[in-house]
Amino acid sequence: MTEMYNPSDRYEHRLSRNQQSVLDFLHQQDGPLSAQELYATIRQHHPMGLATVYRALETLKLHGLIRVRTGAHGESLYSPILTDDHFLTCLQCGRSFPLDNCPVKDWEMSLPRAIPFKIYYHTLEFFGLCECCILQVQSMHP
Ligand SMILES: [Zn+2]
Ligand SMILES: [Zn+2]
Repeated sequence: MTEMYNPSDRYEHRLSRNQQSVLDFLHQQDGPLSAQELYATIRQHHPMGLATVYRALETLKLHGLIRVRTGAHGESLYSPILTDDHFLTCLQCGRSFPLDNCPVKDWEMSLPRAIPFKIYYHTLEFFGLCECCILQVQSMHP
């Protein structure tokens, strides 16, 4: 059993050209992007307005083709669904450290079938302080 998703399995919905461009673009990125960041870069290759970018992201999200996380500054961050995400996130510097293993995989498999819900992905995030920030916070807020 692998946690990899194959996005092509999910193309029940026929994507518009803009939606496809946004999805392809997200697949080329190294990390998650906010809508503003995505817009600033993608329009150099595919001319489209910010509202179009937002609409495309919304459609892709609701079809389970991309994931959304809230960044350290409250912004929505979009990325393709390749695997589930598990992080340790630092409250001071906002850096996220990925975890290799899924702590809730067995639990997810055992969810009662009676609950009518289609799971696209999950994100598990633990918050605290990274090694560098522990010392900094202790000196700033004794
Ligand atoms: Zn930190
Ligand atoms: Zn997981």
